[in-house]
Amino acid sequence: MLVRVSDRLKALPPYLFVEMDKAKKKARDEGRDIIDLGVGDPDTPTPQFIIDALNSAVRDPSTHRYALDQGLPELRDEIASWYERRFNVKVDPKEEVLPLIGSKEGISHMPLAFINPGDIALVSDPCYPPYKSGVIFAGGKVELLPLLSDNDFLANLESIPSAKAKKAKLIYLNYPNNPTAAVADESYFLNVVKFASKHGIIICHDAAYSELSYDGYKAPSFLSAKGAKETGVEFHSLSKTFNMTGWRIGFVVGNRDIVQAIAKVKSHIDSGIFTAIQRAGIAALKSYDRYIGSIRSRYEARRDVLCDGLNKIGWKVQRSKATFYVWARCLKGYDSIKMASHLLNEADVVATPGVGFGPNGEGYVRFAFTVCEERIKEALSRINKIV
Ligand SMILES: *Cc1c(COP(=O)(O)O)cnc(C)c1O
Repeated sequence: MLVRVSDRLKALPPYLFVEMDKAKKKARDEGRDIIDLGVGDPDTPTPQFIIDALNSAVRDPSTHRYALDQGLPELRDEIASWYERRFNVKVDPKEEVLPLIGSKEGISHMPLAFINPGDIALVSDPCYPPYKSGVIFAGGKVELLPLLSDNDFLANLESIPSAKAKKAKLIYLNYPNNPTAAVADESYFLNVVKFASKHGIIICHDAAYSELSYDGYKAPSFLSAKGAKETGVEFHSLSKTFNMTGWRIGFVVGNRDIVQAIAKVKSHIDSGIFTAIQRAGIAALKSYDRYIGSIRSRYEARRDVLCDGLNKIGWKVQRSKATFYVWARCLKGYDSIKMASHLLNEADVVATPGVGFGPNGEGYVRFAFTVCEERIKEALSRINKIV
């Protein structure tokens, strides 16, 4: 039988990391000692107190049945309480908080609730790929908002023609930003809210990296901008904050009607997060205040080694204020694919070519400091020999 896939599947953007993944695998198979600064996945284990919470929850048979679609009331309460402690923003745990099977799940399902075929969604570019795929799955059209270094990688909303803005239903933004490591302040979010409410656009703000920040900087919540809750939601994740990428737990908070529309979509697709994992998530958020300093200082030390090291060998980069990425301009004569290939072939170092995150990522590579300081130093000494 000839298997015919849907037009929507065909419309998904090509996966641009295929060639890089192949080259990386080949290098490993050849027995080369590869230092992987390509993956955005924490290298250290989930903290023991979270594993212990899962362990005792999983021994309780009442956790073995279908979970509640809307999440445990205790988890929603804990999320609301964390939100108020951390951001000074109040959300109603009953209707303005929704646990997700990882934030990627909610981010990619959200357009199904709001996009009609042909509707426009504004998506910052370069970006985390699920923003675009979610819109395409819902039959929408993606309009890219370039993130440029001249504007500190903040999407310039004034540049959007008002005819286009009027047709847009959703806008996807992400600060602290993957892949550029840019941050946004409250006044920027206030501008976003003004722009979106003027044109009736729903804001999806992805705050997956809100807790990984350095030099005393604390990322604000988009919802702390005046009027934000009228027009948008914010996605959070336990993945990066608590080294829980494989566990699949995140949440969305904000506008009641938007949150409930996402909940309706989800009620037709999944049956909630495994209850034992929800209990582990409660333990994680409860211990946030005691825990967070340790993870910040670990990444901050690595950030110092990587950024200072690159600058010292003449590869000028900005010191990332947040996230675990460094967004580095390609060296003269290289585009992003050639730069990443050169690093892999000559230095056995993996970096991600910027173009994989969208056309405006061309001219950059992304380094992730998800390996220990010793390995970062080794990577730097190898890079030093080939630049
Ligand atoms: C890692 C990441 C996420 C997602 O995480 P989940 O594990 O699905 O919660 C969301 N947004 C960005 C920008 C990310 O880098």
